[in-house]
Amino acid sequence: MESIDRKTFIASAGAATLAATANTTARAASDVVFLSTWKWGVEANRRAAEVFSGGGSLLDAIEKGINVVEDDPNVTTVGYGGLPNAEGEVELDAGIMDGTAHRAGAVCNLHKIKNPISVARLVMERTRHTTMAGGGALRFAIAMGFEPMQLLTPRSLEAWLKWKNAPHHQTFWIDGEHHDTIGMVGASGGNVAAGCSTSGLAWKIPGRVADSPLVGCGYYADDAAGAASATGDGDVMAGYCTSKHIVQKMAEGMHPQEACRDLMRYMAKTARDLRTSMYCVIAMNPRGEIGALSMNAAQPLHYALWRDGTGTLHTAPHYLS
Ligand code: ASP
Repeated sequence: MESIDRKTFIASAGAATLAATANTTARAASDVVFLSTWKWGVEANRRAAEVFSGGGSLLDAIEKGINVVEDDPNVTTVGYGGLPNAEGEVELDAGIMDGTAHRAGAVCNLHKIKNPISVARLVMERTRHTTMAGGGALRFAIAMGFEPMQLLTPRSLEAWLKWKNAPHHQTFWIDGEHHDTIGMVGASGGNVAAGCSTSGLAWKIPGRVADSPLVGCGYYADDAAGAASATGDGDVMAGYCTSKHIVQKMAEGMHPQEACRDLMRYMAKTARDLRTSMYCVIAMNPRGEIGALSMNAAQPLHYALWRDGTGTLHTAPHYLS
């Protein structure tokens, strides 16, 4: 067996440390791009970049980035402080996908757990399943060590009581709207990943599941083509498999922005309320080129981009002129 003297060991250990440092530095500075929906995406991207540059994987980065928004009581459409369903219960949906392994994990109608994206990741990594819902998802989360808690904040409880006590309050047996999502896609070294998390529509009919936790709808990722995520009226968008559509178009050679346009073109043929409803998407290819688009000017999409170590906030173009 070849022996190694102390000097050689120290020299090679030092070289390895230097190489690791150099790798980490190079990785943090220039080889990761994150794209997220809405203004809270800025902080989510910053956290994702921090996790990534600290040695975390792309999935770690996306999960932890999304956790920031889930933990924020001021975001009333995601995680803790999200507005509840019609019965006053906060009901969360989330999904995550690894574009390298082509594996996804999701939870729907999850109560009492403020980080559904983390539970979704464990569904992906610790089970043979893809999606878990309701009471089973809650029991799974508890078995995985998550602590159940009250997700209503004084602010969201007050908003629900106000809605509930309004004589002719809007219900989703007919129509209505208050929603948003944190959707995030990331690329590094040719790999992509995607995730999204939401409390869905405020005052929704309990049990409602829309696009966010459905693979290919709220999120999709494939290293061979890219990643995408959607936000907006998920009851409509789910019918167009939006994220899969966009990734498929990137696989056919479209730039992410053109792939987003292709999706809107497809939706515009049949989707309802094109000029008033919110239909928005983001996309990224494995090279880190991006796309972002809303259907109409009345419901603009703001998106956060992390590139070259810097975070910025932008307004996406809209499809309908
Ligand atoms: N798509 C989500 C839902 O319908 C909400 C949103 O992204 O605005 O539940």
